[in-house]
Amino acid sequence: HGLRSIAARRYATASSGPQARAAVPNYDLFRQRLDKARATVLENKPLTLAQKILYAHLHDVSSMSSAPVPGETYLKLSPDRVAMQDASAQMAILQFMLSGMKQTAVPTSIHCDHLVEAYEGADKDVARSWQTSREIYEFLQAASQKYGIAFWKPGSGIIHQLVLENYAAPGTLMLGTDSHTPNAGGLGMLAIGVGGADAVDAMASIPWELKAPRVLGVRLSGSLHPWGSPKDVILALAGKLTVRGGTGYIVEYFGEGVASLSCTGMATICNMGAEVGATTSVFPYTPSMARYLRATQRAAIAAAADAQQATYLSADEQVAQSPEKYYDEIVDIDLSSLEPGYNGPFTPDLYTPRSQMADTVGREQWSDKVSAALIGSCTNSSYQDLSRAASLARQASERGLKVAAGTEFLVSPGSEQIRATMERDGIQQAFESIGAQVLANACGPCIGQWNRDENPVVKNRETNSIVSSFNRNFRARNDGNPNTMNFLTSPEMVLGAALSGRLSFNPLVDTLTDSAGKEFRLQPPTGDELPKDGYAQGRDEYRPLLDHQPAMEIPIAPTSARLQTLEAFVPWSGQEFSDTRVLVTVQGKCTTDHISAAGKWLKYKGHLENLSRNTLIGAANAAMDGQVNLVRNAVEGLEPAQGTIPDVALAYKKASVPWLVIADYNYGEGSAREHAAMQPRFLGCNMVVARSFARIHETNLKKQGVLPLVFARPDEDYFIFAKDPHELVVRTQGVSDINEHNPVVSLLVERVRGGNVVESYSVECRHTMSADQIGWFKAGSALNLIASQQGAR
Ligand code: SF4
Repeated sequence: HGLRSIAARRYATASSGPQARAAVPNYDLFRQRLDKARATVLENKPLTLAQKILYAHLHDVSSMSSAPVPGETYLKLSPDRVAMQDASAQMAILQFMLSGMKQTAVPTSIHCDHLVEAYEGADKDVARSWQTSREIYEFLQAASQKYGIAFWKPGSGIIHQLVLENYAAPGTLMLGTDSHTPNAGGLGMLAIGVGGADAVDAMASIPWELKAPRVLGVRLSGSLHPWGSPKDVILALAGKLTVRGGTGYIVEYFGEGVASLSCTGMATICNMGAEVGATTSVFPYTPSMARYLRATQRAAIAAAADAQQATYLSADEQVAQSPEKYYDEIVDIDLSSLEPGYNGPFTPDLYTPRSQMADTVGREQWSDKVSAALIGSCTNSSYQDLSRAASLARQASERGLKVAAGTEFLVSPGSEQIRATMERDGIQQAFESIGAQVLANACGPCIGQWNRDENPVVKNRETNSIVSSFNRNFRARNDGNPNTMNFLTSPEMVLGAALSGRLSFNPLVDTLTDSAGKEFRLQPPTGDELPKDGYAQGRDEYRPLLDHQPAMEIPIAPTSARLQTLEAFVPWSGQEFSDTRVLVTVQGKCTTDHISAAGKWLKYKGHLENLSRNTLIGAANAAMDGQVNLVRNAVEGLEPAQGTIPDVALAYKKASVPWLVIADYNYGEGSAREHAAMQPRFLGCNMVVARSFARIHETNLKKQGVLPLVFARPDEDYFIFAKDPHELVVRTQGVSDINEHNPVVSLLVERVRGGNVVESYSVECRHTMSADQIGWFKAGSALNLIASQQGAR
């Protein structure tokens, strides 16, 4: 009994103090910083909400001499909080361990959600994940205890849902080691997805750098029609902006349409804003946010935020009156005329409005049969989402209907709180009555943790369609089958697809046939923004563990295949790079999934050496007709002469041959994982030269000591490397005296054939490194620099 009570005490209850849920933000401090910035460098100019939150988090305004220039100036910021998921937390913790710190400098939480393979049902899924990932969970739990981090164990929920329920607070700044961290923008927080190395900065109280973003205003007018859902806003916006359109921007919503949205609906919109490449997305503080804060037992934050609404938690009055003058760009969306959207397959920006879906399915020859329908995830797990979807399930079950034959229907609740509430209020039963399976409160199929391998469509690599309320649909992401066409839509539309079994089914006009053979049309969904009886808390065992024990040992077995203590990367030699070979000239889309695949590789997230065996296996080689994961060895006599990208990279590493990657546009889009930068670095990559980069990945390369360069003439010079790159030998000019004032670095490229130089080229490139980032590069990595500042080495 004694032991049990000690164990029970370690788990926070809903009201067990400030660490269990966010403390009331220090709005006085934010206002002081903001006022100081306004009065000095900002010259009292009107500000958007995003700018206010950023400037209220400047590390030291007195170190700024002039107003920040968007797209140019680096802001040094002091985040309020860090959140990490279990896959990315491993490397962040391994790095933090080397930093010499005793405790995280800001409140931090770890959420075990990505490693749970979900397919059998919640309890079995979670129990199995303890069998397969016990070592990782014990490592993360011990590190959490050592450094004073809140630890959310597997089954407790998905990071972004838990952050929204517990930690998000209007006007604060958070870093999360996951690209959908912006979800918390639905609660007025500026929440930014970063790599683990950036999280380590915040955890170590090192000012975190962000290039001052532009602000893209999205003006919402009208209100959603009965079949409309907040998801449709971001599906349509992704269609307009494309996966690159938000790069370098914060998306800020404004206009009279905002008031009609629920807090959780706004979170959905901000969550999937990651798919347009935006730094983050944010909504101004609204009464629906206050309602959500009170419903999640944070009335004190709501009261404090109410007092800040007019001044700090919304854009300045002049901005509201003349938005064209203050936003860098404006996009208009009329909620009243917004159709439900379907985005996909294979990319989140391929938007088809519902009314055109049937035609498009026929024209594009998409597979009309829906083999699986999935709802939930971090994107669409709110009470409103699930209660509206359940209202459609009830209509079907009342008529004796179940999901279509051959269609699986899976539900991934975002948290234990939402699952328990769903169960109490009969929502789960409504789903189960039509044949749903409720999976663990975890990412599951959204991140490829689905175990669909035995399903014939995957086994036989069949073309098939799946429909989900998730946020991302790169090829093979969900089930590993490159022929699975994955469409993103609202939970309500997923229900339509589940019941009809067809992509082309339009619930607004088409009919279903009930068990008596009678045709009927679904009535528009209905649901509640918040549960009438409040949220159920769920099982105590899923509350966070808060148990600071500084003397805790962190277990890492030397024989482990999944965890490996990190060794610091070698510092830069101070010389130009020479004799560098081109490992691959990447053609087309190359996301961080292509550079460091997820799925079955997730289990090696804490073991750099083992994980690096997947480096760039999804990359298409421009020099070999776009063949994926196949390159020629540039060094004569080195084996293999031709092989997979990681095999050839490893051969270079063993022979101490430095190499670079040539990349196409928007290289490294997608998730924030720093492994995509660490793995190439570990294997000997010294530069990545791209036509353009996705922001987070470019920063991650800098953090790991890899030099990212952009072609000055991307439309010409890229093609020099697309032809027989194995013949090219590269040296640099401009690295030995690299500095923040001169962005030019040139590549002197020789084409060597049969031992003779047959052609040479001078290729002008640009770097985008600030003075601090150059410090990282010189030290060999940002971590090396932090450790030397801590005096740890
Ligand atoms: Fe998990 Fe998917 Fe959300 Fe990422 S997008 S946090 S994998 S549910």
